[in-house]
Amino acid sequence: MSLRLGTFFLLLLATTASGQLDQLQGLNGLQDVPLTGLSQPDNNPLGAVALALHPEDWKHAEGEHFIYHYVRSFVATRISVEAEFNFRVVAQVLEKEAPASERKSHIYIFDRPGDWREFQKAGELEPWSGGIQSAGSLFLLSDPSYKFSGNTVCHEIAHLLLYRYYGSHIPCWLNEGFAEYVSRNSRASYQRARGYLAKPHSSSLAPEELIPLDQLTAMIRPPNEQVDIFYDESERLVRFLAQADQTRFLALLQVMAGGEEFEHALLRVYAGTFASRSDFEEKFHSYASRDL
Ligand SMILES: [Zn+2]
Repeated sequence: MSLRLGTFFLLLLATTASGQLDQLQGLNGLQDVPLTGLSQPDNNPLGAVALALHPEDWKHAEGEHFIYHYVRSFVATRISVEAEFNFRVVAQVLEKEAPASERKSHIYIFDRPGDWREFQKAGELEPWSGGIQSAGSLFLLSDPSYKFSGNTVCHEIAHLLLYRYYGSHIPCWLNEGFAEYVSRNSRASYQRARGYLAKPHSSSLAPEELIPLDQLTAMIRPPNEQVDIFYDESERLVRFLAQADQTRFLALLQVMAGGEEFEHALLRVYAGTFASRSDFEEKFHSYASRDL
């Protein structure tokens, strides 16, 4: 079933999200359990690296979709509310109501910047979001002086669910673009569920700023010198494709995760919407420069 996303988020907000948020906020935080009492261990070697830093400080708890490792309970409770909310939002956008497996993903919340710096040597920090998603586990630093962008948790959870449902071969622009797209929308609906007026923010880009699409879609990591344009343009591209046709966007995600090349997949999946590569580029350029 295809729903226009604006309508989709309003429906989600009205019917499920705010109720779930109230429910989660009504809980008295997370229940600490010993490491050996968790239902599932994390087989990710980075998890073991994290827990080996000050092992006596880590506490552990389970939520509905995630297992949390943390130092301070109130910090973990706050992040768990956001994580469970975002899990539902991302799963619904991907039209994956049933879990891909019964496995819960592990989230590690670091409290000490020193430990985090030490840990970063083992993992690859995303410069944009400040978190690390690796092979289905998520690592975050909780520190008031650290500049989290407001949508970090959702951005990384989007990567986590893409990894879980589609594997590790999604091209960089599609992975980052989807994570930004869904997290900007989710951030706005999360704020609305808490009574704030908020709309998703998507940056418009002038034609001369754009990274040419053949270069953008071939990049295997965000380019250091154009990192913000890379994320903004990838987000715009995903937004454009999803709003053109949500069902076809999910089909595109599926075939690209399976290794199909972008141009071929695009013209096949969006047959009838885009007559040719140049028709697609023309329409995208005009969409990218628009203030939404
Ligand atoms: Zn990312």
